[in-house]
Amino acid sequence: MAPYRSPWMDEELDLFRDAARRFVENEILPHDARYREQHHVDRELWNKAGEVGLLCTDIPAEYGGVGGDVRHEAVVVEELGRRGITSLGHSVHSIVAHYLLNYGTEEQKQRWLPRMATGELVGAIAMTEAGAGSDLQAVKTRAHRDGDHYVIKGSKTFISNGLHAGLVGVVAKTDAAQRAKGISIVMVETRDQPGYRVGRVLEKIGQNGWDTAELFLDDVRVPADCLLGGVEGQGFAQLMDDLPYERTLLAIGGVAAMEYALSLTVDYTRHRKAFGKALLEMQNTRFKLAEVKTRVHIARVFIDDCIVKLRDGQLDTVTASMAKWWVTDLQNNVADECLQLFGGYGYMKEYPISQLYVDSRVQRIYGGANEVLKEIIARSL
Ligand SMILES: Cc1cc2nc3c(=O)[nH]c(=O)nc-3n(C[C@H](O)[C@H](O)[C@H](O)COP(=O)(O)OP(=O)(O)OC[C@H]3O[C@@H](n4cnc5c(N)ncnc54)[C@H](O)[C@@H]3O)c2cc1C
Repeated sequence: MAPYRSPWMDEELDLFRDAARRFVENEILPHDARYREQHHVDRELWNKAGEVGLLCTDIPAEYGGVGGDVRHEAVVVEELGRRGITSLGHSVHSIVAHYLLNYGTEEQKQRWLPRMATGELVGAIAMTEAGAGSDLQAVKTRAHRDGDHYVIKGSKTFISNGLHAGLVGVVAKTDAAQRAKGISIVMVETRDQPGYRVGRVLEKIGQNGWDTAELFLDDVRVPADCLLGGVEGQGFAQLMDDLPYERTLLAIGGVAAMEYALSLTVDYTRHRKAFGKALLEMQNTRFKLAEVKTRVHIARVFIDDCIVKLRDGQLDTVTASMAKWWVTDLQNNVADECLQLFGGYGYMKEYPISQLYVDSRVQRIYGGANEVLKEIIARSL
């Protein structure tokens, strides 16, 4: 089989990929076990990632970004995924930057994007509450207008980048009488912000290097010009319109993680011996890995098509939802099949396959639970 090269890659992206790979290998991988122990990366990692141009890669240079497109984002997500890194919440940071780029006023873009690109501000998006997950319209957090300010009251949970976030897009009701049309996103700069508090960094079964936290907003007062886009009631539409981007990034990470799992397992079974021969010489191992290789290749071709469509502004929500549910379901299946071939060693934390297994599980839940995504796809039938 001829080596496959993603059709969207080019020489400039090869160089960019080399830089991303070096950064992951030198700055993240050696510390990842510690990040998982402490449940967050070191704060400076964000600034270092900004310095080498790995943040806001698809944000125009006039706002401090790298000036690339979604292919640059894909490269970073892949280089993280191909080494099993889930500690740096790069995708969520990019998603927040995208909300600003697509819906922010000119002044908001100038105010926040350059500082996100350097890593001075880490981005988070706070939608989920104890009583509102998939059903986002049920959020209880309120943002009411008080003169030149909004006053925000509520609490959020499961917020990625929650500990380090310097800029949080808080999803809140500006009109409690309405469902979707009452929702707005208010950008909150967290530093020295009275009433803003980070609660627990949550104990998870996987992705433990990534800070997932509770947030509390107790009469947080922000200037009225922090309302994303400057018009109330746009929040739900803003979130929905950006979903293809968010779901594609999750699926790209899923494909990269599967590619990593496959390469680890081929390598392991080639060297591990049982009954006098390598595991890879046994028919079950060969057939299992043949199946995995086929499925991963199909996923790769599909996601490459999504990346090209996204770059060209042609990726619709239904196709992105297909990519997210199908790839992340497959990711769980592949991690499970590969782990099995490691035997007991696959159950040991020191073997990366065990981390790929636990890290993959949440991919089917966040970014739209896969069942919700199937509903979206079904509506297009
Ligand atoms: C590690 C992690 C990181 C996260 N990061 C963020 C973040 O950065 N920001 C943020 O706002 N949120 C975040 N979340 C929250 C995540 O988006 C929600 O957990 C998710 O939307 C599901 O909501 P829920 O947990 O309340 O489950 P529920 O909404 O209670 O759903 C439970 C289950 O019910 C089923 N279900 C729900 N609705 C339907 C339906 N319409 N049809 C059929 N079945 C359905 C699904 O199987 C679903 O998994 C994160 C969660 C985790 C675990």
